[in-house]
Amino acid sequence: MSVLVLNADHTPLSVCTTERAFLLMYLKKAEIISATANKALRSVSQSYPFPSVIKIKQYIHVPYKGVVLTRQNIFKRDNHACQYCGSNKELTLDHLIPKSKGGKSSWTNLVTACKSCNSHKGDYSPEEVGLKLKNKPIRPSYVMFLRASSKYLNDDWIPFLEHKASA
Ligand SMILES: [Zn+2]
Repeated sequence: MSVLVLNADHTPLSVCTTERAFLLMYLKKAEIISATANKALRSVSQSYPFPSVIKIKQYIHVPYKGVVLTRQNIFKRDNHACQYCGSNKELTLDHLIPKSKGGKSSWTNLVTACKSCNSHKGDYSPEEVGLKLKNKPIRPSYVMFLRASSKYLNDDWIPFLEHKASA
């Protein structure tokens, strides 16, 4: 089970294990915000709710958490699918504006493309060879990645994640 960790101002910080969440609460560093229904940790004399969202009591200053531009992170942003044909085989990175024409390696100029679309596109822009992008490439936010990288999305988390996304 994963637990969403909120900063003192309720913005999402990270995801941790249930064990770590219990430890933080035990140390009085965090408090429970939302509990998993019908689940409890029982000791001899007491029963403790299972946290799904906890909040750190003392505000932690976090330097801006950008997402690092890597091949894997671009694949992740694009759901491991070619942005032209949707294939998930033989994925490569494609520069929308080709490098040879001054295209940069950036979040907005790189997309996931399968080998076949990439070689079809060659040194042209997508329009020039009649390829259409499924999604406009964007620079992802940290929260977006938090959502994508949690194995399952706990419903309890959604209000907190959306809170940050709209801010
Ligand atoms: Zn393709």
